[in-house]
Amino acid sequence: MQQKPGVLELYVHIPFCVRKCNYCDFLSFAAGRDSRELMERYCQALREEIRAGGDTSRLVTSVFFGGGTPSLLDGNQMTGLMDAIRASFRLDREAEISLEANPGTLSHGKLEAFRQAGFNRLSIGLQSASDQALVMLGRIHSLDQFLDNYEEARRCGFTNINIDIMSGLPGQSLEDYKKTLDLVTGLRPEHISSYSLIVEEGTPLARSDKLLAALPDEEADRAMYRETGQRLEEAGYRRYEISNYALPGKECRHNLGYWSGLPYLGLGLGAASYLPVEQASDSPAEGTPTFCRFSNSRIMKTYLESPWLPYGKRPDYTILTLEDRMEEYMFLGLRKREGVSISSFGQNFGRSLDQVYGNVVRTYEKSGHLETLGDRLRLTEKGIDVSDYIFRDFMLVD
Ligand code: SF4
Repeated sequence: MQQKPGVLELYVHIPFCVRKCNYCDFLSFAAGRDSRELMERYCQALREEIRAGGDTSRLVTSVFFGGGTPSLLDGNQMTGLMDAIRASFRLDREAEISLEANPGTLSHGKLEAFRQAGFNRLSIGLQSASDQALVMLGRIHSLDQFLDNYEEARRCGFTNINIDIMSGLPGQSLEDYKKTLDLVTGLRPEHISSYSLIVEEGTPLARSDKLLAALPDEEADRAMYRETGQRLEEAGYRRYEISNYALPGKECRHNLGYWSGLPYLGLGLGAASYLPVEQASDSPAEGTPTFCRFSNSRIMKTYLESPWLPYGKRPDYTILTLEDRMEEYMFLGLRKREGVSISSFGQNFGRSLDQVYGNVVRTYEKSGHLETLGDRLRLTEKGIDVSDYIFRDFMLVD
């Protein structure tokens, strides 16, 4: 993947939620609002992990607190975590520092404290403007609670807010979905993410025949996707990734880093990392660092079960092969509206994009799903519609 030496992104996982939503398979637990002791222990373990993983040799350009529901933590806990990050990493003064929040867990006092702790971007999960849909999804909040929290965040000085919405909900018509689009465009957040609902195995949604039967068909789902693009672009948002839209200059820098192959360190339960490793045998050129990925769920589990244990070794990691990295370069890069850089592929991997993917690219260019614009290869509108199928053809390893 494209590598910018000297830069690092941090992801911090907070796995607590008030309760599980009906469609959720993220690593999160229904901790409830009264699990203060468990959350406090988690924060303590996390602060130790932040210190142990500290690295001041690279500039941290973004920090993203995701979950779960990070906004369940209180102001002191967030301040403690951000202080630990500042003491252990070289945090860019201009760093984007994002916090995922759910309506119903925010208050004036918390929002003030989060701003004071350094958060300058808030990502609020609305999902739908219909209270009926929110109940069906098992969300903890109503539309009014979302609106109160959103307005309060503005009053507390958050000038960079994302709203998450979802399409393809059981029983949802295009007209219903348009009401959600009307609401969010009316609020004018700086960023909007819109994902189609995915039925994940093992969730209450996947077990409900009634809800499954009410899911919109693929054509209706595509119509909602197209409506999103059209309505948001008319309202001044630019689609810069398959499911993400931003006002000019307000793209999420942290996620752009993921899609562009910047190294990141994940902290907290189950958080994955993607970091350079020296001297890997399949390095594309001698002396060029390659990347490894590891998930630190084991270390955090150890902490939670036995908080007195000293910090141990990093958990096992996987060294990514050249093929893994070439695949990821394509999968992630093609998600971006600007696509992938053809010349960077050659510089990163020592083989040209044409040598590795020439046949696939030519096939999809002929069918109108991919297009080359100067040094960039990107999906066309038609290609975005079937991107999941196209990505499969960029796989090099089974
Ligand atoms: S709030 Fe998010 S992480 Fe928590 S249960 Fe709902 S979907 Fe999952």
